[in-house]
Amino acid sequence: MNGYGGSILRVNLSNGQLTRFPTPPELAINFIGGRGFGAYLLFKEVTKFADPLGPENKLILSPGPLSGLMIPGAGKMDFTTKSPLTGGYASSSLGGMLTAELKYAGIDSIILEGISPNPVYLFIDNDLVELRDASEYWGKGTITVESSIKDKFGEEFQVAVIGPGGENLVSFASINHDYGRQAGRGGVGTVMGSKKLKAIVVHGSKAIPVADSEGYRKAGKELFKACKDADGLVPWQRYGTTIVTSWCDEVGALPTRNFSSGHFDEGKSLYGPVMREKIVITDKGCFGCPSPCGKYSRMKKYKTNVEGPEYETIGMLGSNLGISDIEDVAEANRLCDDLGIDTISTGGVIGWAIECFQKGILTSTDTDGLGLRFGDSDSIFKLIHKIAFQEGFGKLLAGGVKKAAEAVGKGSEKFAIHVKGMEQSAYATHNATAMLLAYMTCDVGAHHNRSWAITYDLQVGRELVVPEKVARIIWLQNFRPMFDVLGSCRLQWVELSIDRDLYVPALEAITGIHRSWEDLEKTGDRIWNLTRMFWIRENPGFNRDWDLPSPRFYSEPPLDGPTEGQITKFEDVQKLLDMYYEQRGWDKNGIPTSSTLIKLDLAELAI
Ligand code: SF4
Repeated sequence: MNGYGGSILRVNLSNGQLTRFPTPPELAINFIGGRGFGAYLLFKEVTKFADPLGPENKLILSPGPLSGLMIPGAGKMDFTTKSPLTGGYASSSLGGMLTAELKYAGIDSIILEGISPNPVYLFIDNDLVELRDASEYWGKGTITVESSIKDKFGEEFQVAVIGPGGENLVSFASINHDYGRQAGRGGVGTVMGSKKLKAIVVHGSKAIPVADSEGYRKAGKELFKACKDADGLVPWQRYGTTIVTSWCDEVGALPTRNFSSGHFDEGKSLYGPVMREKIVITDKGCFGCPSPCGKYSRMKKYKTNVEGPEYETIGMLGSNLGISDIEDVAEANRLCDDLGIDTISTGGVIGWAIECFQKGILTSTDTDGLGLRFGDSDSIFKLIHKIAFQEGFGKLLAGGVKKAAEAVGKGSEKFAIHVKGMEQSAYATHNATAMLLAYMTCDVGAHHNRSWAITYDLQVGRELVVPEKVARIIWLQNFRPMFDVLGSCRLQWVELSIDRDLYVPALEAITGIHRSWEDLEKTGDRIWNLTRMFWIRENPGFNRDWDLPSPRFYSEPPLDGPTEGQITKFEDVQKLLDMYYEQRGWDKNGIPTSSTLIKLDLAELAI
């Protein structure tokens, strides 16, 4: 099949069986690749009510049809699983070089199932596929292991690896790659750890067939030219995602002291230009990227290096924890990366713990003698270690903020900032109703990348609760994740304003199938509804309450920063949901109706 590696690899870690079968053409037609493959295979293959950490759960890795080809940012792939953090659908995107090697090895998906009796790593060199003993790597940090594996097999091998966080089943463990890229969200690394799979090592050298090589060359060239000519290229390349830190601080969206505010008084020392000046030593990008957003930094104070921090990490491990020294934020970032835990969830759960301590809900008896306060980097570094090793107080935090708050009680649930159990990423949504709805209805929990709408909130009126805002969120949710389906980066469209229609001839020349963006959005809608049905299937009693945000965003004014435009009534939150369900074709409890599922060719899922 043009644009595809041609096979799906099934790895049964319980019995060591490895099987490869041709990629079904109907899967490629209906779900295209990447996140689409993951969503379909998860729904079809994982048995109902599977324990996320049991042998019946699966971890599915999928590049897309653009991955590994000469298209800007075609270095993305998807990890899908049933989340140990939320109990629902998890999908996390990874950049870097791994996806290209998978495609060159002829692989469109890897389905990992079962549990190995001993730590192993998966070794793939084109058609040679083996499970090998990983006892020498178990217990070690991600950077050390990736470097050792590359020393052993050569730089042409790409490595995805978990750290102690994944081994110790921290609910928000990440999968790390290329010394600083992560599939971070939803506990994909936890599931890899539960299977005792330390690493995946891949090299491939096969050609990817394309339908029209001349058309592919022309379309790829036009896309690269558009990136090169984009006005936004120079600032984006210089600052990457940190370009938004100052803007978020100004508009009240920078999470500060456990989201109690959207403005950080000492925030200026975290802004992109300050970071660039103080710690960045070079830029770093994914496969085929003309606009590398990765920043590689040196922390002189600690004599350490890290890829990052990017905006989300600055928000969650910086302002959200009251830390204003960019070197401290970068060091916290390095610890999380090496230990293999998600920086966003880590910042969320530690922010909650500090607020509990300040309010007297937790005392030093609960925290292993640690005094917790915002801005205290040393105690925060200690907590990161405790979480990764599930040690003492860290054990409570390692289950995620929702479970920690339920265990502690005493009103702490009110400032556990999450949706569906996933800690909210780095946008305070006191006065941004579209972004609030985006978090409420995101398919994995409170994550921003499906639908990023804060600028839109500012354009049309922050407090408005109107159908147009809801329509915008739905459009973004159907459209933006399609980049994760195609296996390329969305940031060229987002940050460089590349015309999305330039991707249409590229996709057609590669796959031989014409798909307009309207066609792609319909596939996006199908995947969105399929994953919603996964949540409903796995969680008896699922209803609209699952889509509610933290009360902090509608019942308390932000402590600092702009206060205008906040919705203050719970009825407005419910109104947002009512409008959303109606426009999606879901019932009052957020369940897709039969006619919606039939319209999206998902009739077999109708309840
Ligand atoms: Fe990777 Fe950033 Fe380039 Fe996207 S913009 S492909 S995330 S380096």
